[in-house]
Amino acid sequence: MKKLFADRIEGLAQSDIRRMSIECAKVNGINLGQGICDQPIEPIIKEATIKAIREDRSIYTRLDGIDELRQRIAKKVREYNRIPCDADGEVIVNVGSTGSFVTACLAFVDPGDEVILFSPFYGYHLNILKACGAAIKFVTLRPPDWSYDAAALEAAFSPRTKFILVNTPSNPCGKVFTREELAHIASLCARHDALCVTDEIYEYILYDGRRHISPATLPGMDGRTITISGFSKTYAMTGWRLGYTVARRPLAAKMAILNDLINVCAPSPLQYGVVAAFDLPESYYETMRADYQTKRDMTVEACREAGFTPYPPQGAYYMLCDFRELGFKDDQEAARLILERAGVAVIPGSSFYVDPRDGRTQVRLCYAKKMNDLEEACRRIRALRTVLA
Ligand code: GLN
Repeated sequence: MKKLFADRIEGLAQSDIRRMSIECAKVNGINLGQGICDQPIEPIIKEATIKAIREDRSIYTRLDGIDELRQRIAKKVREYNRIPCDADGEVIVNVGSTGSFVTACLAFVDPGDEVILFSPFYGYHLNILKACGAAIKFVTLRPPDWSYDAAALEAAFSPRTKFILVNTPSNPCGKVFTREELAHIASLCARHDALCVTDEIYEYILYDGRRHISPATLPGMDGRTITISGFSKTYAMTGWRLGYTVARRPLAAKMAILNDLINVCAPSPLQYGVVAAFDLPESYYETMRADYQTKRDMTVEACREAGFTPYPPQGAYYMLCDFRELGFKDDQEAARLILERAGVAVIPGSSFYVDPRDGRTQVRLCYAKKMNDLEEACRRIRALRTVLA
């Protein structure tokens, strides 16, 4: 019989993130697994979207997105990220920032090209790269501060390096790259004529007074950085699937062609609606940051009380936690028993590491939940020892 599946899908399976959501729904648990982000969307965004639907703004848009939205994205990128950006030719609206990453990988990675990825990583980054045939070079981030060995990063670069992926703030460990680290990465990219693809989807979720630094703003990075972000996390609309890519014109032009081929365009009424997000006042972002910081601290506290060793994140809304003292056999058993006994879904740690042993004593928790649900989840986590006994 003929080989059925393409090589690129060999070895790819449903992610633990999705699997745990299914398991969680079966037992009606509280889902601290998948980063669902179930806060309500701001009314002005909903109203603008409903208006767009009523007005039948429902046909294809330009392949890189509607003018109003690209203009507002470009302005935000110039002001918040401090990246020079022309709305006409340097912004592409995609179907989620995952869609942005797919177009970047398809545009730049030939099978065998090297791409540098930090471990722990977001599994979708890994698997999209695998599907493109990338030869992935890993650089390990070590808890508790998720620093890495500068020499190991230097050794990961080679003449075949196509790009390095920088996810800051990072999923799953919440690392926020420092200016010094980004400057080092920038100098290596320049030395090896490599690109830098970023994932900055959590750019507004930073703790303890940290400020977001976009890799594209470091010396030598203009023209070699593909900056990816989106609306999902900042405006709590993970299911709307609206992301965007910012890059200099020649790079953006090719990715725009791929966006057209894969999606034609992002859903048009949602594009019209989300323009209203840019009218939200500064206080919206401050309130969101403060809310997540409270939720982070609550979750850290509950995990400590329960006997975990949490690694408090610097940004984003996930936390890796070591459970060695709780006596689970491994991370799969830990996730299974925490769901079974406490009704709280978490993700087994090994799914985030190139060497599964690095994550065998860890689970990832997501605290982007409504306050009531998170409070209940924290109560259940605190009671874990009792229900496990
Ligand atoms: N980014 C979210 C997470 O890491 C959701 C991922 C997904 O469902 N694909 O949990």
